[in-house]
Amino acid sequence: MKLRVLVDNNTFINMYYLGEPAVSYYIEDEGEKILFDAGYSDAYMKNAKSMGIDLSDVSKLVISHGHNDHTGGLPFILEKCRNLEIITHPKTFIEKMDEGEDIGSPYDEEMVRKYAKLSLSKKPVNITNNLIYLGEIPQTTSFETRDIIGVTDRDNHPDDILEDSAMCYKTDKGIFIITGCSHSGICNIIEYAKKVTGDNRVYGVIGGFHLFDKDERLASTIEYLKKENIPNLYPCHCISLDAKIEMGKVMEIREVGVGMEVDI
Ligand SMILES: [Zn+2]
Ligand SMILES: [Zn+2]
Repeated sequence: MKLRVLVDNNTFINMYYLGEPAVSYYIEDEGEKILFDAGYSDAYMKNAKSMGIDLSDVSKLVISHGHNDHTGGLPFILEKCRNLEIITHPKTFIEKMDEGEDIGSPYDEEMVRKYAKLSLSKKPVNITNNLIYLGEIPQTTSFETRDIIGVTDRDNHPDDILEDSAMCYKTDKGIFIITGCSHSGICNIIEYAKKVTGDNRVYGVIGGFHLFDKDERLASTIEYLKKENIPNLYPCHCISLDAKIEMGKVMEIREVGVGMEVDI
Protein backbone atom coordinates (compact mmCIF):
# COMPACT_ATOMS: atom_id res chain seq x y z
CA MET A 1 0.00 0.00 0.00
CA LYS A 2 1.28 3.39 -1.02
CA LEU A 3 -0.19 6.55 0.47
CA ARG A 4 0.58 10.04 -0.80
CA VAL A 5 -0.51 13.18 1.04
CA LEU A 6 -2.33 15.28 -1.58
CA VAL A 7 -3.31 18.00 0.82
CA ASP A 8 -2.55 18.86 4.44
CA ASN A 9 -2.20 21.96 6.62
CA ASN A 10 1.59 21.63 6.37
CA THR A 11 3.92 21.93 3.41
CA PHE A 12 7.63 21.03 3.30
CA ILE A 13 10.40 23.42 2.41
CA ASN A 14 11.47 23.04 -1.26
CA MET A 15 8.30 21.08 -2.13
CA TYR A 16 6.14 23.62 -3.91
CA TYR A 17 2.67 22.18 -3.42
CA LEU A 18 -0.43 23.93 -2.15
CA GLY A 19 -1.36 23.57 1.51
CA GLU A 20 -4.74 24.13 3.13
CA PRO A 21 -6.29 23.10 6.47
CA ALA A 22 -7.86 19.98 5.03
CA VAL A 23 -7.27 16.28 4.28
CA SER A 24 -6.86 14.32 1.07
CA TYR A 25 -4.73 11.20 0.63
CA TYR A 26 -4.14 9.20 -2.55
CA ILE A 27 -3.74 5.47 -1.98
CA GLU A 28 -2.68 2.66 -4.31
CA ASP A 29 -3.23 -0.91 -3.22
CA GLU A 30 -3.62 -4.14 -5.21
CA GLY A 31 -3.80 -2.10 -8.44
CA GLU A 32 -6.74 -0.09 -7.11
CA LYS A 33 -6.58 3.71 -6.99
CA ILE A 34 -8.31 5.13 -3.97
CA LEU A 35 -8.87 8.61 -2.60
CA PHE A 36 -9.41 9.29 1.09
CA ASP A 37 -11.22 12.61 1.62
CA ALA A 38 -11.44 15.43 -0.91
CA GLY A 39 -9.88 18.46 0.79
CA TYR A 40 -11.49 21.90 1.08
CA SER A 41 -10.89 23.18 -2.47
CA ASP A 42 -9.41 21.84 -5.71
CA ALA A 43 -5.90 22.13 -4.18
CA TYR A 44 -5.61 18.32 -3.94
CA MET A 45 -6.34 18.00 -7.68
CA LYS A 46 -3.72 20.65 -8.54
CA ASN A 47 -1.19 18.97 -6.23
CA ALA A 48 -1.93 15.53 -7.71
CA LYS A 49 -1.24 16.96 -11.18
CA SER A 50 2.07 18.47 -9.99
CA MET A 51 2.98 15.07 -8.49
CA GLY A 52 2.22 13.31 -11.79
CA ILE A 53 -0.76 11.45 -10.31
CA ASP A 54 -3.69 10.93 -12.66
CA LEU A 55 -6.90 11.05 -10.62
CA SER A 56 -9.21 10.34 -13.58
CA ASP A 57 -9.11 6.58 -12.96
CA VAL A 58 -9.57 6.66 -9.20
CA SER A 59 -12.21 3.99 -8.57
CA LYS A 60 -13.11 4.58 -4.93
CA LEU A 61 -13.42 7.64 -2.71
CA VAL A 62 -13.74 7.05 1.03
CA ILE A 63 -15.02 10.05 3.00
CA SER A 64 -14.21 10.25 6.71
CA HIS A 65 -17.03 12.68 7.62
CA GLY A 66 -19.13 15.53 6.26
CA HIS A 67 -17.15 18.64 7.26
CA ASN A 68 -16.15 20.83 4.34
CA ASP A 69 -12.39 20.49 4.95
CA HIS A 70 -12.92 16.84 3.87
CA THR A 71 -15.75 17.25 1.32
CA GLY A 72 -15.29 20.78 -0.08
CA GLY A 73 -13.32 19.51 -3.07
CA LEU A 74 -15.85 16.79 -3.89
CA PRO A 75 -17.41 18.50 -6.97
CA PHE A 76 -14.00 18.55 -8.71
CA ILE A 77 -13.35 14.80 -8.46
CA LEU A 78 -16.98 14.00 -9.37
CA GLU A 79 -16.52 16.04 -12.52
CA LYS A 80 -13.29 14.21 -13.38
CA CYS A 81 -14.17 10.59 -12.49
CA ARG A 82 -17.24 9.13 -14.09
CA ASN A 83 -16.97 5.64 -12.57
CA LEU A 84 -16.43 6.58 -8.97
CA GLU A 85 -17.80 4.69 -5.99
CA ILE A 86 -18.08 6.71 -2.80
CA ILE A 87 -17.96 4.81 0.48
CA THR A 88 -19.01 6.65 3.63
CA HIS A 89 -21.43 6.74 6.58
CA PRO A 90 -25.15 7.49 5.95
CA LYS A 91 -24.87 10.78 7.88
CA THR A 92 -21.97 12.26 5.90
CA PHE A 93 -24.09 14.30 3.50
CA ILE A 94 -26.58 15.77 5.98
CA GLU A 95 -26.79 19.53 6.37
CA LYS A 96 -24.24 20.96 8.82
CA MET A 97 -24.38 24.54 10.07
CA ASP A 98 -22.20 26.33 12.59
CA GLU A 99 -22.92 29.92 13.67
CA GLY A 100 -24.91 30.49 10.51
CA GLU A 101 -22.18 29.12 8.28
CA ASP A 102 -22.51 26.04 6.09
CA ILE A 103 -19.73 23.66 7.18
CA GLY A 104 -21.05 20.52 5.45
CA SER A 105 -20.57 18.94 2.04
CA PRO A 106 -21.21 21.25 -0.93
CA TYR A 107 -23.25 18.40 -2.49
CA ASP A 108 -26.05 16.60 -0.68
CA GLU A 109 -26.78 12.88 -1.08
CA GLU A 110 -29.15 13.34 -4.02
CA MET A 111 -26.62 15.44 -5.92
CA VAL A 112 -23.78 12.98 -5.20
CA ARG A 113 -25.89 10.12 -6.58
CA LYS A 114 -26.15 11.94 -9.92
CA TYR A 115 -22.39 11.58 -10.40
CA ALA A 116 -21.26 8.51 -8.48
CA LYS A 117 -22.25 5.16 -7.04
CA LEU A 118 -22.88 5.87 -3.38
CA SER A 119 -22.32 3.10 -0.84
CA LEU A 120 -23.47 4.21 2.60
CA SER A 121 -22.54 1.97 5.49
CA LYS A 122 -22.37 2.05 9.28
CA LYS A 123 -20.58 -1.31 9.16
CA PRO A 124 -16.97 -1.90 8.09
CA VAL A 125 -16.46 -2.22 4.32
CA ASN A 126 -13.53 -3.86 2.56
CA ILE A 127 -12.00 -1.40 0.09
CA THR A 128 -9.31 -3.90 -0.99
CA ASN A 129 -8.40 -7.24 0.64
CA ASN A 130 -6.39 -5.50 3.34
CA LEU A 131 -7.79 -1.96 3.39
CA ILE A 132 -10.96 -1.48 5.42
CA TYR A 133 -13.33 1.46 5.86
CA LEU A 134 -14.35 1.18 9.53
CA GLY A 135 -17.86 2.68 9.46
CA GLU A 136 -19.43 3.94 12.68
CA ILE A 137 -16.96 4.10 15.56
CA PRO A 138 -18.28 2.92 18.93
CA GLN A 139 -17.30 4.89 22.00
CA THR A 140 -15.22 2.59 24.19
CA THR A 141 -12.82 4.85 26.11
CA SER A 142 -14.00 6.84 29.12
CA PHE A 143 -12.03 9.99 28.32
CA GLU A 144 -13.09 10.52 24.70
CA THR A 145 -16.60 11.91 24.55
CA ARG A 146 -18.20 12.94 21.27
CA ASP A 147 -17.67 16.51 20.15
CA ILE A 148 -20.62 18.66 19.25
CA ILE A 149 -19.89 21.01 16.38
CA GLY A 150 -22.81 23.11 15.15
CA VAL A 151 -26.22 21.77 14.22
CA THR A 152 -27.48 19.30 11.65
CA ASP A 153 -30.78 20.79 10.50
CA ARG A 154 -33.21 23.62 10.84
CA ASP A 155 -34.44 22.27 14.21
CA ASN A 156 -31.02 23.09 15.60
CA HIS A 157 -30.26 19.46 16.40
CA PRO A 158 -26.70 19.36 17.85
CA ASP A 159 -24.29 17.61 15.50
CA ASP A 160 -22.27 14.91 17.27
CA ILE A 161 -20.56 13.99 13.96
CA LEU A 162 -21.60 10.38 14.43
CA GLU A 163 -20.40 9.59 10.91
CA ASP A 164 -16.76 10.38 11.69
CA SER A 165 -14.77 7.31 10.66
CA ALA A 166 -11.37 6.12 9.44
CA MET A 167 -9.67 3.38 7.44
CA CYS A 168 -7.24 0.72 8.50
CA TYR A 169 -4.76 -1.37 6.55
CA LYS A 170 -3.71 -4.86 7.58
CA THR A 171 0.03 -5.54 7.38
CA ASP A 172 2.33 -8.33 8.63
CA LYS A 173 3.55 -5.96 11.33
CA GLY A 174 0.12 -4.89 12.56
CA ILE A 175 -2.56 -2.43 11.51
CA PHE A 176 -1.96 1.00 9.96
CA ILE A 177 -4.77 3.46 10.61
CA ILE A 178 -5.75 6.43 8.40
CA THR A 179 -7.95 9.07 10.03
CA GLY A 180 -9.76 12.21 8.92
CA CYS A 181 -10.38 14.40 11.96
CA SER A 182 -10.86 11.77 14.70
CA HIS A 183 -13.95 13.51 16.05
CA SER A 184 -14.91 10.01 17.27
CA GLY A 185 -11.74 9.94 19.38
CA ILE A 186 -8.38 8.69 18.15
CA CYS A 187 -8.26 5.97 20.84
CA ASN A 188 -11.84 4.86 20.12
CA ILE A 189 -10.83 4.55 16.45
CA ILE A 190 -7.71 2.52 17.26
CA GLU A 191 -9.67 0.24 19.61
CA TYR A 192 -12.33 -0.37 16.97
CA ALA A 193 -9.75 -1.01 14.24
CA LYS A 194 -8.19 -3.67 16.48
CA LYS A 195 -11.59 -5.26 17.04
CA VAL A 196 -12.54 -5.26 13.35
CA THR A 197 -9.22 -6.76 12.22
CA GLY A 198 -8.62 -9.00 15.24
CA ASP A 199 -5.06 -7.64 15.37
CA ASN A 200 -3.94 -5.75 18.49
CA ARG A 201 -0.60 -4.61 17.06
CA VAL A 202 -0.78 -1.02 15.86
CA TYR A 203 1.95 -0.39 13.30
CA GLY A 204 1.05 3.22 12.53
CA VAL A 205 -1.50 6.03 12.49
CA ILE A 206 -1.68 8.94 10.05
CA GLY A 207 -4.24 11.74 10.02
CA GLY A 208 -6.07 14.19 12.23
CA PHE A 209 -5.98 13.46 15.97
CA HIS A 210 -8.29 16.31 17.04
CA LEU A 211 -6.20 17.29 20.05
CA PHE A 212 -5.75 20.95 20.92
CA ASP A 213 -5.76 21.86 24.62
CA LYS A 214 -3.41 20.66 27.33
CA ASP A 215 -6.17 18.95 29.28
CA GLU A 216 -7.23 15.63 30.83
CA ARG A 217 -8.19 14.21 27.46
CA LEU A 218 -4.77 14.94 25.99
CA ALA A 219 -3.04 13.42 29.03
CA SER A 220 -5.18 10.25 28.84
CA THR A 221 -4.69 10.01 25.07
CA ILE A 222 -0.92 10.29 25.44
CA GLU A 223 -0.95 7.66 28.17
CA TYR A 224 -2.95 5.34 25.90
CA LEU A 225 -0.72 5.92 22.86
CA LYS A 226 2.42 5.38 24.91
CA LYS A 227 1.12 2.00 26.11
CA GLU A 228 0.30 1.04 22.51
CA ASN A 229 3.94 1.66 21.59
CA ILE A 230 3.15 2.62 17.97
CA PRO A 231 6.28 2.81 15.78
CA ASN A 232 4.83 5.11 13.08
CA LEU A 233 2.79 7.97 14.47
CA TYR A 234 1.91 10.78 12.06
CA PRO A 235 -0.43 13.19 13.88
CA CYS A 236 -1.48 16.04 11.61
CA HIS A 237 -4.27 18.27 10.28
CA CYS A 238 -6.13 18.94 13.56
CA ILE A 239 -3.56 18.87 16.32
CA SER A 240 -2.00 21.85 18.05
CA LEU A 241 1.73 22.45 18.47
CA ASP A 242 1.18 22.19 22.24
CA ALA A 243 -0.33 18.71 21.86
CA LYS A 244 2.50 17.59 19.56
CA ILE A 245 5.11 18.86 22.02
CA GLU A 246 3.43 16.94 24.86
CA MET A 247 3.33 13.79 22.73
CA GLY A 248 6.92 14.24 21.59
CA LYS A 249 8.12 14.25 25.20
CA VAL A 250 7.20 10.58 25.67
CA MET A 251 7.06 9.04 22.18
CA GLU A 252 8.43 9.49 18.71
CA ILE A 253 6.14 11.36 16.32
CA ARG A 254 6.69 12.16 12.66
CA GLU A 255 5.99 15.21 10.55
CA VAL A 256 3.37 15.18 7.80
CA GLY A 257 3.21 17.50 4.81
CA VAL A 258 1.90 17.69 1.27
CA GLY A 259 3.75 15.31 -1.06
CA MET A 260 4.84 12.94 1.70
CA GLU A 261 4.68 9.26 0.87
CA VAL A 262 4.10 6.32 3.16
CA ASP A 263 4.99 2.97 1.64
CA ILE A 264 3.98 -0.13 3.55
ZN1 LIG B 1 -14.36 17.69 11.08
ZN1 LIG C 1 -10.83 18.24 9.47
